Amino acid sequence: MDKATSRTAPSGAADEIRAIVGPKGVIDDDALAPMLREWRGRWEGETSLAVAPASVEEVAAVVRVCAAHRLAITPQGGNTGLVGGQIPLNGEILISLRRLNRIRSVDPLDGTMTLDAGVTLAAAQAAAENVDRLFPLSIGSEGTCQVGGVISTNAGGVNVLRYGNTRELVLGLEAVTPTGDIWNGLQRLRKNNTGYDLKHLLIGGEGTLGIVTGACLRLFPRPRERATMLAALPDPEAALRLLVRSDAVSGGRVTSFELISGAAYDLCAKNVPGVRHVLAERSPWYALVEFSSGETSGLRPMVDRLLESALEACEIRDAAIAESQAQSDELWRMRHSLSEAMKPEGAQAKHDVSAPLSDVPRFLALADAGVERAAPGARVIAFGHMGDGNIHYDVLKPLGAADDAFAKQIPIIENAVYEAVDAVGGSISAEHGVGVARAAEVAARKDPAELAMMRAVKAALDPKGIMNPGKMLAPQGR
Ligand SMILES: Cc1cc2nc3c(=O)[nH]c(=O)nc-3n(C[C@H](O)[C@H](O)[C@H](O)COP(=O)(O)OP(=O)(O)OC[C@H]3O[C@@H](n4cnc5c(N)ncnc54)[C@H](O)[C@@H]3O)c2cc1C
Repeated sequence: MDKATSRTAPSGAADEIRAIVGPKGVIDDDALAPMLREWRGRWEGETSLAVAPASVEEVAAVVRVCAAHRLAITPQGGNTGLVGGQIPLNGEILISLRRLNRIRSVDPLDGTMTLDAGVTLAAAQAAAENVDRLFPLSIGSEGTCQVGGVISTNAGGVNVLRYGNTRELVLGLEAVTPTGDIWNGLQRLRKNNTGYDLKHLLIGGEGTLGIVTGACLRLFPRPRERATMLAALPDPEAALRLLVRSDAVSGGRVTSFELISGAAYDLCAKNVPGVRHVLAERSPWYALVEFSSGETSGLRPMVDRLLESALEACEIRDAAIAESQAQSDELWRMRHSLSEAMKPEGAQAKHDVSAPLSDVPRFLALADAGVERAAPGARVIAFGHMGDGNIHYDVLKPLGAADDAFAKQIPIIENAVYEAVDAVGGSISAEHGVGVARAAEVAARKDPAELAMMRAVKAALDPKGIMNPGKMLAPQGR
């Protein structure tokens, strides 16, 4: 436990916090139970008090009490994070943002939208759509995750290739600092060169530097036409060439380029009701590609031309183009069900890594060889946002192996995968963040000068160390 902070609220402090949020703002035991559990059951937490303030001022007042009593805080959005950052593991005060759920303003002329941090991503997308605009961030958890959560994890998803990560979509932030001050940085400016751009510390900050309470987000024109295709590929090199060809032939209109291994697709067809192979022959690799355009026609002939040239160049073996929204939805359902498809297969080692685009094939080859050496017979399920060099590289236990025996091999499997990441100059966490899951590996691998700067920033902004301790930055000396 951190020496400077306490994770159990003395009754006086707890009473002060209860008085600030009122009875409606205190989360009772029934509602609390699911908030203390990570959705896959990987982390189970405990808290001395959980509250859901109803305003920015209430958040600030609660943080001031915590700062005065050196009480540790864990902020929570929709509790869909995949690295455990949102779970209070040692009795921290849980601050849920769910009652801060107002869309404050949407301005189609500015191309901006200002909203509370507790608005769900799906509600933010809908608010943009209401004014015929697009908020392009799209991830599998969008019905539940919150704007503050996607900002704090710098979420990526399927549209990064065209629109960027969350970081690129945020113009301004409002946040409560670890001392309980309210920072109003809700500018709607595209240009502002007046010093350190502090919002970028909170974006991807995983609740370690403050609590995001509001954001101003960028909007884009809504596409008028989309085209979705599934291509069967001999190997990842062919996927790389198809990506470059798609970008060139479409004039930059590729919105998503997802790589899916044949093994991943097979598992989906086996374990997820309603998912089937849509191409006649099984292939070792597939690319699910989506194009979008502001014009109402023209995409389909372009995709036909693209496929013709890719077939001629032997980049692809076969392809299907969705002829309707229902067929496009069917292809995307397969892509979004890949994690679900793995659940029934028992113990697994999961990795969310990135590599320079042209090194993705080399990473896959190195990782496959390393995993086979570390755990012969283990099944690799690789898929991900190839267009961003981001691969979800999951390793399932060999068929028939016991979960316990495989769980013991996970550290050496992880090491083999991370060695492959290091060999290509990649990152061991591409879009899910660090949380508790990757804190030790990140501390071990970061450039020492960079790690020292990160610790200096943390010490400067959160001198009492109350904001989400133990998350992202591993305690020193471990
Ligand atoms: C089915 C599924 C699919 C997913 N797909 C993707 C994907 O494609 N791409 C991707 O990048 N991620 C993906 N994710 C993970 C992604 O990180 C989360 O879904 C989302 O970004 C977290 O939002 P949340 O509101 O649930 O945050 P939480 O899980 O509640 O919190 C996540 C972290 O942010 C902090 N935090 C939350 N709110 C605030 C706040 N207001 N201020 C300060 N700190 C805060 C928490 O302390 C924690 O450290 C997926 C998750 C699931 C379950």
